[in-house]
Amino acid sequence: MTINSRLLRFALFSLLILAGMLLSGALALHQGERRALLDEGQQTREQLGLYAESLHTLIERYRALPAVLALDPELRAALRGPVSGELQLHLNRKLEQINGAANSSTLELLDRNGLAVAASNWRLPTSYVGHNYGFRPYFLETRTKGSGRFYAVGVISGIPGYFLSQAVLGDAGEFLGAMVVKLEFPGLEREWSQRPDIILVSDAKGIVFIANHEDWRYRELLPISSQGRAELSSTRQYDKRPLVPLRHRSLQDFSAHSRLARVDGPEGRHDYLWESLPLEHEGWTLHLLHRPQTATASARNAALAANGAWLALVFLGLFLHQRWRLARLRQRSRTELERLVEERTAALRTAQDGLVQAAKLAALGQMSAALAHEINQPLTAQRMHLASLRLLLAHGRTDEAQQALLRLDELLERMAALTGHLKTFARKSPGGLHERADLAQVVDRALQLLEPRLRGAEVAIELHLARPAWVRGDAIRLEQVLVNLLRNALDATAKQARRELQVGIQAEHGQWLLTVADNGGGIAAEHLGSVFDPFFTTKPVGDGLGLGLAVSYGIVMEQGGRLEACNQGAGALFSLRLPAVLDEEPQ
Ligand code: ADP
Repeated sequence: MTINSRLLRFALFSLLILAGMLLSGALALHQGERRALLDEGQQTREQLGLYAESLHTLIERYRALPAVLALDPELRAALRGPVSGELQLHLNRKLEQINGAANSSTLELLDRNGLAVAASNWRLPTSYVGHNYGFRPYFLETRTKGSGRFYAVGVISGIPGYFLSQAVLGDAGEFLGAMVVKLEFPGLEREWSQRPDIILVSDAKGIVFIANHEDWRYRELLPISSQGRAELSSTRQYDKRPLVPLRHRSLQDFSAHSRLARVDGPEGRHDYLWESLPLEHEGWTLHLLHRPQTATASARNAALAANGAWLALVFLGLFLHQRWRLARLRQRSRTELERLVEERTAALRTAQDGLVQAAKLAALGQMSAALAHEINQPLTAQRMHLASLRLLLAHGRTDEAQQALLRLDELLERMAALTGHLKTFARKSPGGLHERADLAQVVDRALQLLEPRLRGAEVAIELHLARPAWVRGDAIRLEQVLVNLLRNALDATAKQARRELQVGIQAEHGQWLLTVADNGGGIAAEHLGSVFDPFFTTKPVGDGLGLGLAVSYGIVMEQGGRLEACNQGAGALFSLRLPAVLDEEPQ
């Protein structure tokens, strides 16, 4: 792979990681924000429930008041006839007293036309007394249904409040007038103004009439229809208060009453978690607008966590990929190694076969030279014997001629033995491994082969041969080993005054141990480890090839045996071990 494509791969990979980080981060940010908003929404909803509860409790506390007062016989009697100035004063005081005790905002008594005949605020310039409230929806409702409720800004006082009214009925159940209690919520608003959130109460038309922050009051949350506007002006619900629309749009809806909204409020444009709760009894809706705070922080944390998780995933992936590659590489190099080993083994086997063959040929060459010399001698001798034989026969000396023929015979036999060996020696014998061979005979034949060399030299050969010593193997090859060992021993002892050679065969743990010992001075310690190496020789160039022991070693191994060298006494000791074959075993 070129550096450029590596760089490209690296860049692509980095880009992928980055893209993954961005994607996972964005997803987690979104999810985290949503999750956090939902959590905050839950908290906000719980608070909203508490606010609704306190508002409800406040209203409930006063709901019974007009109903109880409507039963008051004095008030009922007053509505039956015309109200004198004295009676009005009495009633005003009475209502003033009750109002003080009940802690309500205002109490007023309306006659059947909606005229206020008495009111608790009679002393104030904003007194209701003498004003007609027949146009107010709660009065109309009370007249038809027996009770009514309405939130409105006081026409006279200009103070907004919740009007709860109850019909005052005559003995026959006829409508005499209405008892009205007005509740104001400044206390509640003041209490709520301590809260950091925006708390609003809107009516059925979506107009905010209670707010814990002044600027949010009298805002239109929903667009108002023209019919709605006509209603507003006829009931004078918010009288002269200007109604301003509150611009807002939903960014995310979590449920029908929960959303994230962007609001152009009095404090500028902000995003609020907007929770609302319908107050069914009143037909109002309570709103809580909360500026989300923890959402961003926890969303950021979620994004960071997602990035962390993504990176961990990437590194895990890298780690696994690396491991997989390593395993594949290992597998590949193992296969490669196995292939190499196989190749080398095959090559070595071929080389060894070649060496064995080469060594044979070399030995054959050496031996041919020696044999040519050996054969020449008897041939000359035979020619001489034949000549003298002819003479003896010519002179009729048959007895002597017989003697000469015997000598000729001997000479011919020797030559036949020599050539016989030569014939078998150079042959490669593949099937010989499973034949039975007697080690003692192998020794005999090897000595016979070396006969010409031994005859010339004065060597004391000591033989201790157990007979027969059956092994499984190729006799000719084993002979080759023996010839090598003996020839080396002869070479080693060449300079000794008295040359000694011992050849022995003995049984050892189910094996035959064949030893060849000499008194030739032994093998130098540093050479002991290399004598079996091919081409290791200490002999002068031309004398030794350094193949004899290597080939012998190979042959012995091939036949399932072992060949070792050590020093013993005055010379070297070569030990050849081969598994023994029992006499009875088939050939
Ligand atoms: P070569 O006889 O052609 O040198 P070999 O493989 O037969 O090759 O022998 C290798 C070497 O081992 C010899 O050169 C010699 O140094 C050493 N060696 C072998 N046999 C003997 C022995 N009987 N005594 C001392 N040295 C020996």
